This record gives sequence, structure tokens and C-alpha cells, in this order.
Amino acid sequence: MEEPIPPFCWCDNNKRSKIITSWTDDNPGRRFARCVDKEHGCHFWVWIDPPMCERSTEVIPKLLGKINQLRKRLNLLRGENEEDMIGRLKEENVRMKIEIANLRNQLNMYKFLFVILVLYAVICWATGGGGNQLEIDGGI
Ligand SMILES: [Zn+2]
Repeated sequence: MEEPIPPFCWCDNNKRSKIITSWTDDNPGRRFARCVDKEHGCHFWVWIDPPMCERSTEVIPKLLGKINQLRKRLNLLRGENEEDMIGRLKEENVRMKIEIANLRNQLNMYKFLFVILVLYAVICWATGGGGNQLEIDGGI
């Protein structure tokens, strides 16, 4: 679609107006031109596009509303997914820390048992055959 040339507004210096697209319910997507200086200009204003047909003024606002609803829903879903993912990763992090602490405790217990076994073996070796002594003790 070819862009229309904005008409001159009524200001003294013959400035061209600015073309803007309306998104009101009565004129969705209909373009108009107004003075570039909205606050202090000449208040020139004119429609560029012809009036909307009745069907367009019914359908387009509904479609825009549906687009906005879907955008909101998409943003909500994206937000929930990120929060869910962060929550799940935090829970997983806590579980992993607990598992690491349990494994460290098991490792320390095995180290302690190993030291006890080595000490027992050394004592048995130093006393000249702990196995026999155990048999004697068991026999009494
Ligand atoms: Zn103007």
C-alpha cells in the first residue's frame, strides 16, 4: 500500500501535517492527519482514509481485543514458566545439598571404620596373633 503524502497544515510556515493511525473502536486502523505541533500548532486535522464500513468497525475491535488477550495470556504463561523453573531448580539445589551432606557423613563413617580395622589389625599383629586369642576367649 502506498503511503499518502501528508497535507500541509494551517501553520504560518506551511509545515506538513503528520499521519497517524487511529485505534479507536469507531475507527480502528483508519488514518488521519493532524498538525505536527499538537499542543501549540494550528489544530489542523483531517481523515486520510475513507470511513470504515460497518462490518470492519464490528470485527476489527474484537480481533484487537483477542490479540490483546492472547498477548496477556502469553506473557502470563512465560512468567509462570520462568517462576516454575526457578522454583524447581531451587528445590533441586536443596535436595542435592542434602545428598552431598549425607554422602560426606557416609564417607567419614567409612574412614572411621577403616581406621578402627587398621588399629585392630595392628593390635592383633603386635600381641602375636589375635585370631588365636579370640578362639581362646571364645572357648572360655
Ligand atoms: Zn499546524
